[in-house]
Amino acid sequence: MYRQSSKLANVLYDIRGPVLEEAEAMEAKGHTILKLNIGNPAPFGFEAPEAIVHDMVKQLPVAQGYSDSRGILSGRRAVVQYYETRGIHNLDTPEVFLGNGVSELITLSLQALCNPGDEILVPSPDYPLWTASVALSGGTPKHYLCDEATAWQPDLEDLESKITENTRGIVVINPNNPTGAVYSRETLKKIVDIARRHGLIIFADEIYEKITYDDVEMVNMATLTGDDVLCLTYSGLSKAYRIAGYRAGWLAITGPLSEAKSYLEGIKLLANMRMCANVPAQHAIQAALGGKQSIDDLVLPQGRLGAQMNLAHEGLNSIDGVSAHRASGALYMFAKLDVDKFDIVDDEQFALDLLREQKILVSHGTAFNWSRPDHFRLVTLPSVEVLDESINRLGEFLSGYKQK
Ligand code: PLP
Repeated sequence: MYRQSSKLANVLYDIRGPVLEEAEAMEAKGHTILKLNIGNPAPFGFEAPEAIVHDMVKQLPVAQGYSDSRGILSGRRAVVQYYETRGIHNLDTPEVFLGNGVSELITLSLQALCNPGDEILVPSPDYPLWTASVALSGGTPKHYLCDEATAWQPDLEDLESKITENTRGIVVINPNNPTGAVYSRETLKKIVDIARRHGLIIFADEIYEKITYDDVEMVNMATLTGDDVLCLTYSGLSKAYRIAGYRAGWLAITGPLSEAKSYLEGIKLLANMRMCANVPAQHAIQAALGGKQSIDDLVLPQGRLGAQMNLAHEGLNSIDGVSAHRASGALYMFAKLDVDKFDIVDDEQFALDLLREQKILVSHGTAFNWSRPDHFRLVTLPSVEVLDESINRLGEFLSGYKQK
Protein backbone atom coordinates (compact mmCIF):
# COMPACT_ATOMS: atom_id res chain seq x y z
CA MET A 1 0.00 0.00 0.00
CA TYR A 2 2.75 2.44 0.95
CA ARG A 3 4.88 1.57 -2.04
CA GLN A 4 8.07 3.20 -3.24
CA SER A 5 8.39 5.14 -6.50
CA SER A 6 8.97 3.20 -9.71
CA LYS A 7 11.86 5.64 -10.34
CA LEU A 8 13.83 3.53 -7.87
CA ALA A 9 13.42 0.30 -9.85
CA ASN A 10 16.98 0.41 -11.25
CA VAL A 11 18.62 2.32 -8.40
CA LEU A 12 21.06 0.22 -6.39
CA TYR A 13 23.52 1.16 -3.67
CA ASP A 14 24.62 -2.20 -2.35
CA ILE A 15 27.66 -0.99 -0.36
CA ARG A 16 25.13 -0.18 2.33
CA GLY A 17 22.84 -3.10 1.44
CA PRO A 18 21.93 -6.47 3.00
CA VAL A 19 25.49 -7.46 4.02
CA LEU A 20 25.88 -4.31 6.11
CA GLU A 21 22.43 -4.87 7.62
CA GLU A 22 23.46 -8.39 8.64
CA ALA A 23 26.66 -6.99 10.20
CA GLU A 24 24.62 -4.46 12.18
CA ALA A 25 22.27 -7.21 13.37
CA MET A 26 25.29 -9.29 14.48
CA GLU A 27 26.74 -6.28 16.33
CA ALA A 28 23.42 -5.77 18.09
CA LYS A 29 23.76 -9.35 19.35
CA GLY A 30 27.18 -8.52 20.80
CA HIS A 31 29.56 -9.72 18.07
CA THR A 32 32.61 -7.61 17.22
CA ILE A 33 32.89 -7.12 13.47
CA LEU A 34 36.10 -6.05 11.73
CA LYS A 35 34.78 -3.50 9.27
CA LEU A 36 36.64 -3.14 6.01
CA ASN A 37 33.69 -1.88 4.05
CA ILE A 38 33.33 1.92 4.09
CA GLY A 39 35.81 4.70 3.31
CA ASN A 40 35.00 6.73 6.40
CA PRO A 41 38.30 7.83 8.04
CA ALA A 42 37.08 9.04 11.47
CA PRO A 43 36.05 5.69 13.04
CA PHE A 44 39.53 4.34 12.24
CA GLY A 45 41.22 6.87 14.45
CA PHE A 46 41.92 9.52 11.81
CA GLU A 47 41.24 12.93 13.18
CA ALA A 48 40.50 16.06 11.22
CA PRO A 49 43.22 18.71 11.31
CA GLU A 50 42.48 20.66 14.49
CA ALA A 51 42.51 24.05 12.76
CA ILE A 52 39.53 23.06 10.59
CA VAL A 53 37.37 21.96 13.51
CA HIS A 54 38.39 25.02 15.50
CA ASP A 55 37.56 27.37 12.65
CA MET A 56 34.19 25.77 12.03
CA VAL A 57 33.23 25.99 15.68
CA LYS A 58 34.27 29.64 15.69
CA GLN A 59 31.99 30.31 12.72
CA LEU A 60 28.88 28.71 14.28
CA PRO A 61 27.42 31.99 15.61
CA VAL A 62 27.61 33.61 12.16
CA ALA A 63 26.45 30.52 10.27
CA GLN A 64 22.85 30.54 11.38
CA GLY A 65 21.17 31.78 8.23
CA TYR A 66 20.81 30.26 4.78
CA SER A 67 23.64 31.18 2.45
CA ASP A 68 23.64 31.86 -1.29
CA SER A 69 22.44 28.59 -2.84
CA ARG A 70 25.81 28.17 -4.59
CA GLY A 71 27.55 28.54 -1.25
CA ILE A 72 29.36 31.24 0.72
CA LEU A 73 31.60 33.40 -1.44
CA SER A 74 34.72 32.90 0.73
CA GLY A 75 34.40 29.12 0.30
CA ARG A 76 33.89 29.36 -3.45
CA ARG A 77 36.85 31.75 -3.73
CA ALA A 78 38.97 29.26 -1.80
CA VAL A 79 38.03 26.57 -4.34
CA VAL A 80 38.94 28.85 -7.28
CA GLN A 81 42.30 29.72 -5.70
CA TYR A 82 43.01 26.10 -4.85
CA TYR A 83 42.43 24.98 -8.44
CA GLU A 84 44.51 27.89 -9.70
CA THR A 85 47.47 26.36 -7.82
CA ARG A 86 46.72 23.00 -9.45
CA GLY A 87 46.75 24.47 -12.97
CA ILE A 88 43.06 25.17 -13.60
CA HIS A 89 42.97 28.79 -14.72
CA ASN A 90 39.54 29.13 -16.34
CA LEU A 91 37.35 28.77 -13.25
CA ASP A 92 35.37 31.55 -11.59
CA THR A 93 33.18 31.70 -8.46
CA PRO A 94 29.76 31.68 -10.24
CA GLU A 95 30.62 28.22 -11.56
CA VAL A 96 31.50 26.79 -8.15
CA PHE A 97 28.75 25.10 -6.13
CA LEU A 98 29.30 24.02 -2.54
CA GLY A 99 27.27 20.99 -1.49
CA ASN A 100 26.46 18.56 1.29
CA GLY A 101 29.30 16.34 0.20
CA VAL A 102 30.13 15.39 -3.35
CA SER A 103 27.20 12.95 -3.20
CA GLU A 104 24.59 15.68 -3.28
CA LEU A 105 26.29 17.44 -6.19
CA ILE A 106 26.53 14.23 -8.22
CA THR A 107 22.79 13.58 -8.00
CA LEU A 108 21.96 17.24 -8.49
CA SER A 109 24.05 17.65 -11.63
CA LEU A 110 22.68 14.47 -13.23
CA GLN A 111 19.09 15.39 -12.36
CA ALA A 112 19.65 18.72 -14.11
CA LEU A 113 20.95 17.02 -17.27
CA CYS A 114 19.31 13.74 -18.13
CA ASN A 115 16.21 13.17 -20.22
CA PRO A 116 14.85 9.65 -20.64
CA GLY A 117 17.04 7.92 -23.20
CA ASP A 118 20.14 10.00 -22.47
CA GLU A 119 23.15 7.79 -21.92
CA ILE A 120 26.06 8.44 -19.55
CA LEU A 121 29.25 6.38 -19.75
CA VAL A 122 30.18 5.14 -16.28
CA PRO A 123 33.22 3.00 -15.45
CA SER A 124 32.91 -0.65 -14.46
CA PRO A 125 33.76 -1.14 -11.67
CA ASP A 126 32.47 2.21 -10.40
CA TYR A 127 31.64 4.04 -7.22
CA PRO A 128 27.98 2.96 -7.40
CA LEU A 129 26.47 6.35 -6.63
CA TRP A 130 27.25 7.28 -10.23
CA THR A 131 25.30 4.44 -11.82
CA ALA A 132 22.49 4.90 -9.29
CA SER A 133 22.27 8.66 -9.87
CA VAL A 134 22.16 8.31 -13.65
CA ALA A 135 19.32 5.79 -13.27
CA LEU A 136 17.49 7.99 -10.74
CA SER A 137 17.74 10.97 -13.08
CA GLY A 138 15.96 9.01 -15.82
CA GLY A 139 19.09 8.50 -17.92
CA THR A 140 20.71 5.19 -18.85
CA PRO A 141 24.11 4.22 -17.43
CA LYS A 142 26.35 2.50 -19.99
CA HIS A 143 29.39 0.86 -18.47
CA TYR A 144 32.84 1.04 -20.01
CA LEU A 145 35.50 -1.37 -18.84
CA CYS A 146 38.43 -0.57 -16.62
CA ASP A 147 40.87 -3.35 -17.37
CA GLU A 148 42.46 -5.34 -14.57
CA ALA A 149 45.15 -6.56 -17.00
CA THR A 150 46.43 -2.97 -17.29
CA ALA A 151 46.19 -2.28 -13.55
CA TRP A 152 42.63 -1.02 -14.02
CA GLN A 153 43.25 1.67 -16.62
CA PRO A 154 40.14 2.59 -18.64
CA ASP A 155 39.81 0.57 -21.85
CA LEU A 156 39.44 3.46 -24.29
CA GLU A 157 38.44 1.27 -27.23
CA ASP A 158 35.61 -0.17 -25.18
CA LEU A 159 34.68 3.32 -23.99
CA GLU A 160 34.49 4.75 -27.50
CA SER A 161 32.59 1.72 -28.81
CA LYS A 162 29.80 2.43 -26.28
CA ILE A 163 29.17 5.97 -27.60
CA THR A 164 25.87 6.44 -29.45
CA GLU A 165 23.94 9.49 -30.61
CA ASN A 166 22.27 9.49 -27.18
CA THR A 167 25.51 9.70 -25.17
CA ARG A 168 25.81 12.91 -23.15
CA GLY A 169 28.82 12.44 -20.92
CA ILE A 170 31.66 10.34 -19.51
CA VAL A 171 32.25 9.76 -15.80
CA VAL A 172 35.93 9.50 -14.84
CA ILE A 173 36.76 8.60 -11.23
CA ASN A 174 40.42 9.43 -10.63
CA PRO A 175 42.01 8.31 -8.31
CA ASN A 176 39.57 5.48 -8.59
CA ASN A 177 37.23 3.93 -6.08
CA PRO A 178 37.18 0.89 -5.92
CA THR A 179 40.36 0.02 -7.89
CA GLY A 180 42.86 2.55 -6.52
CA ALA A 181 44.12 3.28 -10.04
CA VAL A 182 45.45 6.74 -10.87
CA TYR A 183 45.25 7.57 -14.57
CA SER A 184 48.20 8.85 -16.54
CA ARG A 185 48.21 12.24 -18.23
CA GLU A 186 48.29 10.46 -21.57
CA THR A 187 45.17 8.42 -20.80
CA LEU A 188 43.31 11.49 -19.57
CA LYS A 189 44.28 13.40 -22.72
CA LYS A 190 42.84 10.58 -24.82
CA ILE A 191 39.57 10.71 -22.87
CA VAL A 192 39.40 14.47 -23.42
CA ASP A 193 40.02 13.89 -27.11
CA ILE A 194 37.13 11.39 -27.27
CA ALA A 195 34.85 13.85 -25.41
CA ARG A 196 35.87 16.65 -27.77
CA ARG A 197 35.21 14.58 -30.91
CA HIS A 198 31.78 13.46 -29.72
CA GLY A 199 30.70 16.65 -27.93
CA LEU A 200 30.46 14.99 -24.50
CA ILE A 201 30.58 16.40 -20.99
CA ILE A 202 33.27 15.03 -18.66
CA PHE A 203 32.25 14.36 -15.05
CA ALA A 204 35.56 14.22 -13.17
CA ASP A 205 35.15 12.75 -9.68
CA GLU A 206 38.45 13.65 -8.00
CA ILE A 207 37.54 13.30 -4.34
CA TYR A 208 40.75 11.27 -3.74
CA GLU A 209 43.00 13.77 -5.60
CA LYS A 210 45.24 14.27 -2.55
CA ILE A 211 45.45 10.60 -1.58
CA THR A 212 48.12 9.17 -3.87
CA TYR A 213 51.08 6.89 -3.15
CA ASP A 214 54.59 6.39 -4.54
CA ASP A 215 54.87 9.91 -5.99
CA VAL A 216 52.44 9.06 -8.77
CA GLU A 217 51.40 12.14 -10.77
CA MET A 218 47.79 13.22 -10.16
CA VAL A 219 46.53 15.33 -13.07
CA ASN A 220 43.25 17.19 -12.61
CA MET A 221 41.06 16.58 -15.64
CA ALA A 222 40.10 20.26 -15.98
CA THR A 223 43.74 21.19 -16.66
CA LEU A 224 43.33 19.29 -19.95
CA THR A 225 39.77 20.08 -21.05
CA GLY A 226 40.42 23.76 -21.80
CA ASP A 227 37.65 26.03 -23.03
CA ASP A 228 36.05 23.66 -25.50
CA VAL A 229 35.11 20.59 -23.42
CA LEU A 230 32.61 21.04 -20.59
CA CYS A 231 34.12 19.58 -17.43
CA LEU A 232 32.39 19.16 -14.08
CA THR A 233 34.99 18.54 -11.34
CA TYR A 234 33.86 17.15 -7.99
CA SER A 235 35.89 17.08 -4.79
CA GLY A 236 35.56 17.77 -1.10
CA LEU A 237 36.75 17.33 2.45
CA SER A 238 35.44 13.85 3.32
CA LYS A 239 38.60 11.90 2.58
CA ALA A 240 41.76 14.06 2.45
CA TYR A 241 40.62 16.15 5.44
CA ARG A 242 38.96 13.19 7.23
CA ILE A 243 35.65 14.99 7.87
CA ALA A 244 33.15 12.85 5.97
CA GLY A 245 30.54 13.55 8.62
CA TYR A 246 30.58 17.32 8.11
CA ARG A 247 29.34 16.85 4.53
CA ALA A 248 31.44 19.39 2.66
CA GLY A 249 32.09 19.11 -1.06
CA TRP A 250 32.19 21.20 -4.20
CA LEU A 251 31.50 21.13 -7.92
CA ALA A 252 33.59 23.31 -10.24
CA ILE A 253 32.45 23.82 -13.84
CA THR A 254 34.82 24.83 -16.63
CA GLY A 255 34.73 24.90 -20.42
CA PRO A 256 32.36 26.39 -23.01
CA LEU A 257 30.00 28.03 -20.51
CA SER A 258 28.00 30.01 -23.06
CA GLU A 259 27.03 26.74 -24.77
CA ALA A 260 26.10 25.24 -21.41
CA LYS A 261 23.86 28.12 -20.29
CA SER A 262 20.68 26.07 -20.09
CA TYR A 263 22.40 23.23 -18.19
CA LEU A 264 23.99 25.67 -15.73
CA GLU A 265 20.60 27.29 -15.13
CA GLY A 266 19.20 23.83 -14.41
CA ILE A 267 21.92 23.17 -11.84
CA LYS A 268 21.28 26.57 -10.26
CA LEU A 269 17.53 25.88 -10.11
CA LEU A 270 18.08 22.60 -8.25
CA ALA A 271 20.62 24.29 -5.95
CA ASN A 272 18.02 27.00 -5.20
CA MET A 273 15.37 24.41 -4.42
CA ARG A 274 17.44 22.92 -1.60
CA MET A 275 18.31 26.43 -0.30
CA CYS A 276 22.00 25.83 0.39
CA ALA A 277 24.46 23.32 1.81
CA ASN A 278 25.04 23.08 5.56
CA VAL A 279 26.60 26.50 6.26
CA PRO A 280 29.04 25.65 9.12
CA ALA A 281 30.52 22.92 6.91
CA GLN A 282 30.91 25.43 4.08
CA HIS A 283 33.17 27.45 6.37
CA ALA A 284 35.38 24.39 6.79
CA ILE A 285 36.20 24.51 3.07
CA GLN A 286 38.11 27.78 3.28
CA ALA A 287 39.77 26.68 6.51
CA ALA A 288 40.93 23.46 4.84
CA LEU A 289 42.02 24.75 1.44
CA GLY A 290 43.55 27.94 2.78
CA GLY A 291 45.34 26.28 5.69
CA LYS A 292 48.66 24.53 6.06
CA GLN A 293 47.30 21.12 7.10
CA SER A 294 48.15 18.38 4.67
CA ILE A 295 47.68 14.70 4.22
CA ASP A 296 51.11 14.29 2.66
CA ASP A 297 52.72 12.68 5.72
CA LEU A 298 50.01 10.04 5.97
CA VAL A 299 50.45 8.78 2.41
CA LEU A 300 54.21 8.29 2.60
CA PRO A 301 55.29 4.62 2.82
CA GLN A 302 56.09 5.13 6.52
CA GLY A 303 52.91 7.18 7.05
CA ARG A 304 49.79 5.45 8.34
CA LEU A 305 47.92 5.23 5.04
CA GLY A 306 51.02 4.22 3.07
CA ALA A 307 51.96 1.49 5.55
CA GLN A 308 48.41 0.13 5.65
CA MET A 309 48.21 0.05 1.87
CA ASN A 310 51.52 -1.86 1.68
CA LEU A 311 50.40 -4.37 4.26
CA ALA A 312 47.02 -4.92 2.54
CA HIS A 313 48.75 -5.43 -0.79
CA GLU A 314 51.24 -7.96 0.51
CA GLY A 315 48.72 -9.70 2.73
CA LEU A 316 46.03 -10.16 0.10
CA ASN A 317 48.49 -11.44 -2.50
CA SER A 318 49.86 -13.95 -0.03
CA ILE A 319 46.47 -15.72 0.16
CA ASP A 320 46.16 -18.69 -2.18
CA GLY A 321 43.57 -17.77 -4.83
CA VAL A 322 43.56 -14.01 -4.20
CA SER A 323 45.37 -11.33 -6.19
CA ALA A 324 45.21 -7.56 -6.16
CA HIS A 325 47.00 -4.70 -7.88
CA ARG A 326 48.67 -2.28 -5.56
CA ALA A 327 46.61 0.90 -5.43
CA SER A 328 48.33 4.13 -6.53
CA GLY A 329 45.67 6.22 -4.83
CA ALA A 330 42.50 6.29 -2.69
CA LEU A 331 41.74 3.99 0.23
CA TYR A 332 40.87 0.63 -1.29
CA MET A 333 42.04 -2.56 -2.91
CA PHE A 334 39.79 -4.35 -5.40
CA ALA A 335 40.88 -7.97 -5.01
CA LYS A 336 40.30 -10.85 -7.37
CA LEU A 337 39.14 -14.33 -6.38
CA ASP A 338 40.59 -17.02 -8.63
CA VAL A 339 37.68 -18.46 -10.65
CA ASP A 340 39.67 -21.66 -11.37
CA LYS A 341 39.93 -22.32 -7.65
CA PHE A 342 36.64 -21.14 -6.12
CA ASP A 343 33.13 -22.01 -7.19
CA ILE A 344 31.58 -18.67 -6.29
CA VAL A 345 28.47 -17.76 -8.27
CA ASP A 346 27.04 -15.14 -5.89
CA ASP A 347 29.57 -12.74 -4.42
CA GLU A 348 27.06 -11.14 -2.05
CA GLN A 349 26.60 -14.61 -0.54
CA PHE A 350 30.40 -14.88 -0.34
CA ALA A 351 30.53 -11.61 1.64
CA LEU A 352 27.72 -12.84 3.93
CA ASP A 353 29.43 -16.21 4.50
CA LEU A 354 32.71 -14.45 5.32
CA LEU A 355 30.92 -12.12 7.70
CA ARG A 356 29.07 -14.90 9.52
CA GLU A 357 32.08 -17.20 9.79
CA GLN A 358 34.94 -14.78 10.45
CA LYS A 359 33.19 -11.53 11.51
CA ILE A 360 34.86 -9.55 8.74
CA LEU A 361 32.88 -7.13 6.62
CA VAL A 362 33.99 -6.48 3.01
CA SER A 363 32.01 -5.20 0.02
CA HIS A 364 31.28 -7.65 -2.79
CA GLY A 365 32.50 -6.67 -6.27
CA THR A 366 29.17 -6.68 -8.08
CA ALA A 367 28.05 -3.87 -5.73
CA PHE A 368 30.44 -1.73 -7.80
CA ASN A 369 28.74 -2.63 -11.06
CA TRP A 370 31.41 -5.18 -11.82
CA SER A 371 29.77 -7.83 -13.98
CA ARG A 372 31.27 -11.04 -12.54
CA PRO A 373 31.09 -12.46 -8.97
CA ASP A 374 34.86 -12.67 -8.62
CA HIS A 375 36.01 -9.57 -6.73
CA PHE A 376 35.66 -7.85 -3.38
CA ARG A 377 36.74 -4.45 -2.08
CA LEU A 378 38.76 -3.99 1.04
CA VAL A 379 39.12 -0.61 2.74
CA THR A 380 42.70 0.14 3.80
CA LEU A 381 41.79 2.57 6.61
CA PRO A 382 42.06 0.13 9.59
CA SER A 383 45.33 -0.03 11.52
CA VAL A 384 47.99 -2.51 10.36
CA GLU A 385 47.07 -4.74 13.32
CA VAL A 386 43.40 -4.91 12.31
CA LEU A 387 44.26 -5.33 8.63
CA ASP A 388 46.71 -8.12 9.45
CA GLU A 389 44.18 -9.92 11.63
CA SER A 390 41.47 -9.51 8.96
CA ILE A 391 43.66 -10.81 6.18
CA ASN A 392 44.66 -13.84 8.27
CA ARG A 393 41.01 -14.62 8.95
CA LEU A 394 40.19 -14.17 5.28
CA GLY A 395 42.95 -16.62 4.32
CA GLU A 396 41.64 -19.15 6.82
CA PHE A 397 38.08 -18.76 5.54
CA LEU A 398 39.08 -19.12 1.88
CA SER A 399 41.18 -22.22 2.51
CA GLY A 400 37.95 -24.12 3.09
CA TYR A 401 35.47 -22.18 0.94
CA LYS A 402 33.72 -23.55 -2.16
CA GLN A 403 36.78 -25.16 -3.74
CA LYS A 404 36.42 -26.43 -7.30
N1 PLP B 1 32.90 9.92 -5.03
C1 PLP B 1 33.64 8.85 -4.70
C2 PLP B 1 34.51 8.23 -5.73
C3 PLP B 1 33.59 8.33 -3.40
O1 PLP B 1 34.32 7.27 -3.08
C4 PLP B 1 32.74 8.96 -2.45
C5 PLP B 1 32.62 8.42 -1.08
O2 PLP B 1 33.10 7.36 -0.75
C6 PLP B 1 31.99 10.08 -2.85
C7 PLP B 1 32.11 10.53 -4.15
C8 PLP B 1 31.06 10.77 -1.90
O3 PLP B 1 31.75 11.62 -1.07
P1 PLP B 1 31.08 12.71 -0.11
O4 PLP B 1 31.37 12.27 1.27
O5 PLP B 1 31.76 14.02 -0.45
O6 PLP B 1 29.62 12.75 -0.40
